[in-house]
Amino acid sequence: MSFKTLGLNAEILRAVEEQGYQKPTEIQRQAIPLVLAGRDLMGNAQTGTGKTASFTLPLLQLLTQHKQPVKGHRSVRALILTPTRELAAQTGKTVGTYSKYLSLRSLVVFGGVNINAQMIKLRKSVDILVATPGRLLDLEYKDALDLSGIQILVLDEADRMLDMGFIHDIRRVLTKLPNQRQTLLFSATFSENIKALAHKLLFNPILVEVTRHSSVTTQIEQTVHFVDKNRKRDLLEQMISAGNWKQVLVFNRTKHGANHLSEHLNKAGISATAIHGNKSQGARTRALAEFKKGKIRVLVATDIAARGLDIEQLPHVVNFELPNVPEDYVHRIGRTGRAECTGKAISLVCVDEHKLLRDIEYLLEQGIPRITLPGYEPDPTIKAEPIIYGRQERHVSGLEMGGPDRLTKLNKGHAFMRR
Ligand code: AMP
Repeated sequence: MSFKTLGLNAEILRAVEEQGYQKPTEIQRQAIPLVLAGRDLMGNAQTGTGKTASFTLPLLQLLTQHKQPVKGHRSVRALILTPTRELAAQTGKTVGTYSKYLSLRSLVVFGGVNINAQMIKLRKSVDILVATPGRLLDLEYKDALDLSGIQILVLDEADRMLDMGFIHDIRRVLTKLPNQRQTLLFSATFSENIKALAHKLLFNPILVEVTRHSSVTTQIEQTVHFVDKNRKRDLLEQMISAGNWKQVLVFNRTKHGANHLSEHLNKAGISATAIHGNKSQGARTRALAEFKKGKIRVLVATDIAARGLDIEQLPHVVNFELPNVPEDYVHRIGRTGRAECTGKAISLVCVDEHKLLRDIEYLLEQGIPRITLPGYEPDPTIKAEPIIYGRQERHVSGLEMGGPDRLTKLNKGHAFMRR
């Protein structure tokens, strides 16, 4: 199937062609015709599946077809809400790319940067606004924007938004929007909270989903290396040096751990920077830019900071620590092997993390091959110790209750029509 059969106009197709995409991805094949038909959608897709284009392309087309608002020119017509600044910036860039040949204006707004500049930009007409919820509300409060003309609302990575405590902000945003609108909600997981939100937000939605297998396993070579906790840093250093890895994204569970690891690597002569929520927006953007340009070899990130990072053809992802939420594993390794490229994802697993690994393999419905680098075999006398989860503990208990078959349960739910 080609993009031409999806009903997109010539200007959009031209922009897509310029990106070199040969054919639509699975989520794009499913979602684009439905969005064009005006349906509300519940999309179950992770980053790396082409989900951004799956809502952006039809959204652009609809805006070119819909009538311009009769009221003041400041009324925004499509709102894309994202949990993080990085994802907002990335999505804004994508919108810009695909709308290159259309006369639509888009703008990205997020916190951590000067609000006045954003207010000035909003004085001109904006068709598509990509925003994080907090800054959006600040702007609305300052009367810098009018949300009453929104025709299409997209909530991207809705599960993350809830995880990050944005539910009240989202509810407040909703009160500012017209009831008559099309709503698209994308989420990698469907907790009870997401289902409740979807129920409130969406009208007679269709559920579209891409299977975990197609999004995870085909283009990513995954391996697990069992190693003692206190040898992980040396093993990572050894892997990077021996393999002469030029660009590797390393995941840590904590900000503190990310800082420590980055310091250690720098001392060992491997250029590294940590990226996490305690870093300023400027520092995060700089770190990412340097990493993309190849000026630093290792970017050490926490899960939240890594959301929305789109680094083309990232060859290596290392889970220095396994995530405590199995779905985060999928998000993390989705940073490599994107779209048409293949990548490697290596997890360094100590004895404390065996249960986490089992949960991940259960979610993937497959075992991950083991590798061992001689000299780094784990000491069998070391006993497992509990992992301190900190703020994410509640997710773990939620998952244990739900497990991977929660999606199946949701699919059977009467509130959602399945294709
Ligand atoms: P996303 O899941 O939206 O984060 O997209 C992941 C990556 O896939 C991005 O780098 C896109 O540029 C790329 N991409 C999106 N759609 C396609 C497609 N149909 N063919 C090839 N690459 C694509």
